[in-house]
Formats: sequence, structure tokens, C-alpha cells
Amino acid sequence: MENSRIAIVGAGITGLSTAHQLKRNGADVDVFDRKGESGGSIKSYRKDGWQYEYGPNTLLLKEQSVETFLHDIGVGHKIMLANPEASKRFIVKDGQLVEAPSSLGSFIKTPLFSTSAKAKLFLEPFKRRLKSDDPSVAEFVEKRLGKEILDYAVNPFIAGIHAGNPDDLSLKHTFPFLADLEESSGSLFIGGLKKALFGDKNPDKISRKLISIEGGLQQIPITISKQLDQVYYNHDITSIKKSDGGWFIHSQMGKYGPYRDVVSTVPLYRWSQELLPVQKNELKTIHDVSYPPLSVMILGFKKEDIEHPLDGFGFLVPEKEDRKILGALFSSTLIQGRAPEGSHLLTVFIGGGRQPEIAAEDSGRLLEIVKEELAELIGVTAEPVFKDHIFWPRSIPQYEQGYNSVLEVFENIESRNPGLHIAGNYRGGISLPDCIKNGLALAGKLS
Ligand SMILES: Cc1cc2nc3c(=O)[nH]c(=O)nc-3n(C[C@H](O)[C@H](O)[C@H](O)COP(=O)(O)OP(=O)(O)OC[C@H]3O[C@@H](n4cnc5c(N)ncnc54)[C@H](O)[C@@H]3O)c2cc1C
Repeated sequence: MENSRIAIVGAGITGLSTAHQLKRNGADVDVFDRKGESGGSIKSYRKDGWQYEYGPNTLLLKEQSVETFLHDIGVGHKIMLANPEASKRFIVKDGQLVEAPSSLGSFIKTPLFSTSAKAKLFLEPFKRRLKSDDPSVAEFVEKRLGKEILDYAVNPFIAGIHAGNPDDLSLKHTFPFLADLEESSGSLFIGGLKKALFGDKNPDKISRKLISIEGGLQQIPITISKQLDQVYYNHDITSIKKSDGGWFIHSQMGKYGPYRDVVSTVPLYRWSQELLPVQKNELKTIHDVSYPPLSVMILGFKKEDIEHPLDGFGFLVPEKEDRKILGALFSSTLIQGRAPEGSHLLTVFIGGGRQPEIAAEDSGRLLEIVKEELAELIGVTAEPVFKDHIFWPRSIPQYEQGYNSVLEVFENIESRNPGLHIAGNYRGGISLPDCIKNGLALAGKLS
């Protein structure tokens, strides 16, 4: 009988969405993870009435395929919509929280940008395209939208979502839709307007919903894993090799296989020539991909100990403001049930590509830094009643300028090694929905 077994290395969201779909399509799948649980970067906690996340906090649903996937795996009834109040977002300007504009009217009135910065935006359709075929996000935004928009909108956004820096990130790899709008219409405004008037041709598109899952986002990988036939935890895979009968997986626990296909979702900083059939020069390109360090501090306060009403999603801090945190989520406003009655839960982000050295400070020192910043920014007047801290030495891969060379390495490895597939948040998008869509697409290809 023909060997149709498939192995997946990594029980993060990419590996598990691939595994789930392969199983639905009738394949025989084994999943391996070095840790004792599934989820990878997704890690949810519940302690003394506080519910919080070490990794991703929310999932932005904007594609039908991702929503359908959540229902298929059986967490559809556990979807929790973000509180409508969370549509309000704040940006720090001159030490104060200023509501970010969400419409043309509010943009015209906002004190976040000067009149000349606002006027410049209306000239965007007349701007020439940049000559570079791989501009940074900063170069693109400064040229098309102006320096203030870069400093007070894009810079804090990149720090908050990617833990990165717009000077380093490649526009076409990080925000391909913006690069496409400019490419197809010569202007972001005209391209956006065309989409609004004539509709987005993407049939998968649905109206946006920011969600979490009852019990935390880790319920997604946990639920998938329970439905799979074989998940090998505590299996640190040391090599993925082909021999006559097919692909074999080696760990300290033994040898597994043969498999027809193997999908590796191992993060790039863990790659070695022993693990994968990667050449020395390719490995250098892979190890050059930056994963900035990030600290996440989770703090609970009594409501009366915070002066700000925390009536929004949270706030982001532009680099220009010269502060020691990247921003904070108002987690208990964002999603119901995150804090005991009468309390607020905040999730604060520190470090990233902007201030990597601060991310690595110990918990005690970080707490002092965060308390000082929160006192000044949102009027925290007392000690937290709950605290937790996680340090991510390598948080999120940065799609920097020249990322084509990284993608080429993946393609070259796959073409030299039929049956070996490279997937993960370093290929095709870092967000949870992107990882899910990429996993489903890969499963379709393998089936
Ligand atoms: C702090 C933080 C906040 C984030 N916030 C958001 C957010 O709010 N919304 C959002 O959409 N996205 C967010 N993201 C991004 C998103 O969470 C990740 O991009 C996504 O979870 C990555 O999934 P993955 O499966 O590709 O990789 P991973 O989650 O890294 O999974 C890889 C798996 O491989 C395993 N592994 C590694 N080496 C081996 C080996 N040799 N053998 C066996 N197993 C191995 C690991 O243990 C891990 O389980 C955030 C990420 C971080 C770190």
C-alpha cells in the first residue's frame, strides 16, 4: 500500500491548522512538539479570577474561511466578540492619551496631527511612486503620507503589532495589500476608494470582527490537538531526513516514519544543518531574520486606583514620545470576564525592536518602569493587586527589506527535497488568521 502518512513538526497554530485539515481530508497525520502542550506562541492563563494571555490577545476575523475553521474545529460557540467600546484606540501625544481618528470627520478634528500634516494627506494621489522595488514601510509612508503620519500612526502601530520598527520592515512583505493598492492604482486613496465603490473582489472577505475565545485563545490549539490521532509532546526534533523508504523524524525519544511528506514549522532561529537539509549559506540568510525580544507584563488593579476610564482597546506609544513602554491593552475592557469584579486588567508591552535592552530586564525592575509609565499616562495611583510577566527572547519574525532572499531559501529547499514543506509565521504573514489560512492552503496542496 502506498505510504500516505504525513508528519508535522510544531504544534503551534500553523502546524495544527494544517494537521486538522489534512485529517479532514483523510490523511494519517502525526504531530510533534518539543513542549508538553500545544499552542506555541499562544498561551492562555486563568489564575484567581484573572484570565490573560502571554502571547496573542485577539484574533481579527475578516475572512469567512477563518471563521468557518473556528466552527469546524468546535470553538464557534466559544467565540467572544470584543466589547464595542474597544473600537476606541488611543495614541500617546505629548504625554497624553489622544483618541485615534476612526473616520474622515474625526481625522480632520484630531489634535494628533498638525493642519499641514492633514493637508499633505490630500496630496497623496499626486505623489510619484518610490523608485525602490523593496522600500521600507517608513520610506513608503513618509513619501506618500508624510512624516507625522509615520511618527504618530505607523510607528506605534508597527511596535504594537510586530514588536518592530518601520525603518527595517519591508512594505511589500509586511503589508502586501498596501503595496498592491499603490501598484494597481498609483495611490492608496484611489485604490481604497475603488475598493469601497466597486467592492472588494475577494469572495472570502467578511466584515471585521475582533474576537477571543472563552477560556483564552489557547483553546484553539488545545481543541484541535484533542481531535488528532497522534500528537507527540516533549519531542524535540533533532533531524528531518529522507532515506529510501521516505522521510524520517528523529528525536531523543527515537525515530519515526517513513512519512510521505513532512511539514516543518520550526522557528527560523532553531534551524540547523542537522535539523533540516539546508545549505550553510542558506542557514546564514535564515539566521539573519530578526526576532526582537519582548516583555509582556500583566497587571491587575482596583478600578478606583486608575484615573483613566480605560474606555477603549488600549494605547500605543510613538517612539518620538521617548517612553519606556510600547503600549498597553485595556484587557478587561477589551474582552469580558478578564478581571474579578471591581478590577481592571492591563497587558503592557515592553522592548521589541525599539528598545530590545529593556525587554530583558528582570521582573522587579520592569515592574518599577511600568508602574512609573502607567502613573504618568493613565493615572495609576496604587500598587497592582495582580501581576505576572513573560519574557519572549525572540518574539515575532520581522519581514525586513530583502526578505525575498529568505523566501527563496524556502523554495530552494522544497524544490531540492520533494515531500518536505516549510511553513510558519515567517512565511505568508505573522497574524493568527494568516497562519490559519496558510495552514489550510498547505493541507489542500498536500491532499
Ligand atoms: C507576544 C506576542 C503577541 C502576539 N499577538 C498577536 C495578536 O494579538 N494577534 C495575532 O493575530 N497574532 C499575534 N501574535 C503572532 C502569532 O501569535 C504568531 O505569529 C503565531 O502564533 C505563530 O504560530 P506558528 O505555529 O507559526 O509558530 P509557533 O507558535 O512558534 O509554533 C511553533 C511550534 O514549534 C515547536 N518547535 C520548535 N522547535 C521544535 C523542534 N525542534 N521540535 C519540535 N517542535 C518544535 C514550538 O514548541 C512551537 O510549539 C503574537 C505573537 C507574540 C509572540
